[in-house]
Amino acid sequence: AKEKPAAPRKSEEPKEKTDSKPSRALSLDIIVIGAGIGGLSVAYLLGKAGHEVTVLENAAQLSEVGAGIQLSPNVTRLLNRWGLKEKLEEISVIPQELTLRRYENGEVVGWKRWGDMIEKDHGAPYYHIHRADLHKLLVETCEQYATIRLNSRVTDIDTSKPSVTLASGEVISADLVIGADGLHSKARDIVVGKKDNPQATGDAAYRSTIPAEKMQDDPDLQWLFKEPGVNVWMGPGRHVVGYFIRNKKLYNVVMLVPARDLDENVKDADVQVMRDDFKNFEPRLRKILDLVPSTMVWALKDRQPLDTWIHPEGRVCLLGDACHPMLPYRAQGAAMAIEDAAVLGNLLSRITSHDELESLLKGYQTLRHPRATATQTASRLNQHIFHLPDGPKQEARDSSMKEAMEVERR
Ligand code: FAD
Repeated sequence: AKEKPAAPRKSEEPKEKTDSKPSRALSLDIIVIGAGIGGLSVAYLLGKAGHEVTVLENAAQLSEVGAGIQLSPNVTRLLNRWGLKEKLEEISVIPQELTLRRYENGEVVGWKRWGDMIEKDHGAPYYHIHRADLHKLLVETCEQYATIRLNSRVTDIDTSKPSVTLASGEVISADLVIGADGLHSKARDIVVGKKDNPQATGDAAYRSTIPAEKMQDDPDLQWLFKEPGVNVWMGPGRHVVGYFIRNKKLYNVVMLVPARDLDENVKDADVQVMRDDFKNFEPRLRKILDLVPSTMVWALKDRQPLDTWIHPEGRVCLLGDACHPMLPYRAQGAAMAIEDAAVLGNLLSRITSHDELESLLKGYQTLRHPRATATQTASRLNQHIFHLPDGPKQEARDSSMKEAMEVERR
């Protein structure tokens, strides 16, 4: 029972919840901390399974970073299974190929046909999508089954009840608390039992989008429109990833560089300083960067894998970046959060008694921890591979990529 009933989201009138929500023999009261990609996904699945779910979000309004995100088939398979395929295809771009390039001249060192081949090989497509569009879609999906409360920053968790305390002083009890509160997770500190800060990886990411119409008239950039795919320019200590989003109306660029300020999280950045970071990259890439209207920079942080994602008292667990933040060098952070949600949602849809909760949470961790940890480690490894200085190791990397490309093309 709640000490205080969860009020509906404060920004708007309560959304009409769907009447297709099944009634259950045991409906748990579940609090999800954080309305990011992971929190919304798990709230949707748990609400749909018949539980009473409240998402507590610190922000005053629901929004996402103005940049793109890559959704690989391991995650689009899930999103499409949730009935989102049609909507996703309306707002995303299906990349036709992946091309890895040498920074100084754009020479192709690796190539893979994507497009239909991804669906053929993996049973689901690859999408490039604007984060705000994905987030909006997940909010709309989640709101049918769960209550989202904004301006609701969780400042403490009592793990025994469990209950959470908000910045306003309000205390809300539940049967289960899921910390999906991202990289700087408060829930993580509580599960681990000590303050546990994110660690600097040494890298930073500039992100920006360019209106495609600005690029369309430049003969040197026409090739980008022919087979829209993802291009990666790899250079010593830095790389750039570029792809179209929003039905090819925007070109998304992520520029990865050594971090100048390891303590900062996100800040506005000077576009000229960013361009100077890539002054020895090929002219076509520099032309793209010249069109970047403005940019922000994120210090990229991750953390060591945790031994456990569940508090010993068995009523508080973690999900997504809260438990396994990673470098974006495999484009799998959000994918892992959505996979976590799918597994936890599935397991808790089977619960028939409170006594089963602890073992189902353990099952969640057993199923998810090895894969998420391996992905964290592989993302760190890609930092090394992408950023090799020119020399024998870089040459070996490029020739092995070229060999793989030849096999692919045959
Ligand atoms: P978050 O998105 O961080 O959400 C956490 C939420 O919790 C936020 O809304 C926050 O406001 C809220 N919150 C925090 N504290 C509290 C509190 N105390 N009380 C209440 N609310 C709170 N992943 C991919 O899969 N593909 C990609 O292509 C990709 N590209 C990336 C590129 C870059 C440059 C970066 C930095 C990351 C990229 N990622 C990518 C990773 C991905 O963005 C994250 O892994 C994902 O957003 C994590 O989702 P989450 O829901 O776990 O956390």
